[in-house]
Amino acid sequence: MSDYVDEVLEKIKAKNAGEPEYLQAVDEVLTTIKPALEKHPEYRESAILERITEPERIITFRVTWVDDNGKIQVNRGFRVQFNGLIGPYKGGLRFDKSVNQSIMKFLGFEQIFKNALTGLPIGGAKGGSDFDPKGKSDMEIMRFCQSFMTELQRHIGPDVDVPAGDIGVGAREIGYLYGQYRRIRDRYDGGVITGKGLEYGGSLVRTEATGYGLIYFMREMLKANGGQILEGKTVTISGSGNVAIYACEKAQMLGANVIAMSDSAGCIYDKNGIDLAVVKQIKEIERGRIKEYLKTHPDAEYLERTGEDSPIWNIKTDIALPCATQNEVTLNSAKKLVENGVIAIGEGANMPCVKEATDYFLEHNVLVAPAKAANAGGVATSAIEMSQNSMRYYLSFEQVDNMLDAIMVNIFKSACEACATYGLGTNYVAGANIAAFTKLAKAMIAQGIN
Ligand code: NDP
Repeated sequence: MSDYVDEVLEKIKAKNAGEPEYLQAVDEVLTTIKPALEKHPEYRESAILERITEPERIITFRVTWVDDNGKIQVNRGFRVQFNGLIGPYKGGLRFDKSVNQSIMKFLGFEQIFKNALTGLPIGGAKGGSDFDPKGKSDMEIMRFCQSFMTELQRHIGPDVDVPAGDIGVGAREIGYLYGQYRRIRDRYDGGVITGKGLEYGGSLVRTEATGYGLIYFMREMLKANGGQILEGKTVTISGSGNVAIYACEKAQMLGANVIAMSDSAGCIYDKNGIDLAVVKQIKEIERGRIKEYLKTHPDAEYLERTGEDSPIWNIKTDIALPCATQNEVTLNSAKKLVENGVIAIGEGANMPCVKEATDYFLEHNVLVAPAKAANAGGVATSAIEMSQNSMRYYLSFEQVDNMLDAIMVNIFKSACEACATYGLGTNYVAGANIAAFTKLAKAMIAQGIN
């Protein structure tokens, strides 16, 4: 059956040449699900791999807007509606200058599996633009979002496709995007986008959900491996955006000592424990650089990023949480982390470890909480936001948080069960991929050839 994977991978490589991130994501899934393909020859007969790796639809569009100097700017918008087998397409929007079709497809592909793991009825999608929000004024951001949504609104709807935030798309952008959708459609379609403000249909806990969920998953993984706990462990977290900040908050609530955080320029190392209120002030309010942390904490160190390897991974820690972007943990960084005695990696970002780094961790008995499972709390809470919008009702913080916690516990259980069924030990990367894949394959077979 490994022939089947190799044959399909060959075809995909030929068809998607020039899309390295997409090929990396597909390779990672297909090579880890081989045991399930061995056990289920019907998957090959139904051409499941060929079908699941081909997006149902890719939409690209021009986004034209006017900057503060009156100059016309043109960006490219994307929406990859990858797979709607188990529910409306669902996945975030990324505004970042690096955005291209390969990155959109890798994220859309991963989203199908992640969403399946949540146990909720949501399909997989991703979208965004090569628009760079850094240094743009509020009005420029608003004009860009309005132009982006003017096109995107034709392709989305509460039962069709439901975008949310991702890198560069937070509460401000979601507000502008939703406002433009409502203006054009002239109806209340709250469930058309998630991550909304609490005043107009958002859900409590959505802001915290990805980071909190990551820590709930980590808590379960540690507990299952020798009854370990987060309390007293040192933690380093890359990034200082939405996922990183709330992973830090929950880790601190559970008694861990978070000693480092970063942004794309460098990292802060504070042995005494990161002062999260200061990080929030810099990142959520002032939209500044992490280096500014030293103004209030002169005892902390700032390590500037000079090459491909982020300096944060050179810091000795028990637990490392990459929460910034794809491929941020190189093989070199993985070696350094292992040398320094890391016991667990929790992937808050999507595909943050290069494949060689993941393999290195697993070979050295480091526990890996894989992104598709460990960061699924964000999209799961988005689905809870959609439910509240349909019910025209709000749940309390505690209710949503308890639901999120239960979902993360279940996701961990699903990965464990697949590990047990297929003799994978504690390779939760393979376990999570198989748990998601078998659910999707069943749904695909049930729905006939399409
Ligand atoms: P944010 O935009 O809020 O934060 C991103 C953070 O990562 C910033 O600190 C940013 O630094 C840093 N970063 C971005 N690009 C790079 C880079 N090339 N190298 C180093 N650091 C970088 O995004 P989110 O926190 O929402 O998303 C972070 C990751 O988590 C992404 O992979 C995203 O796909 C994933 N994710 C997010 C979810 C969510 O609910 N938000 C859900 C599931 C996954 P700087 O400010 O310098 O750019």
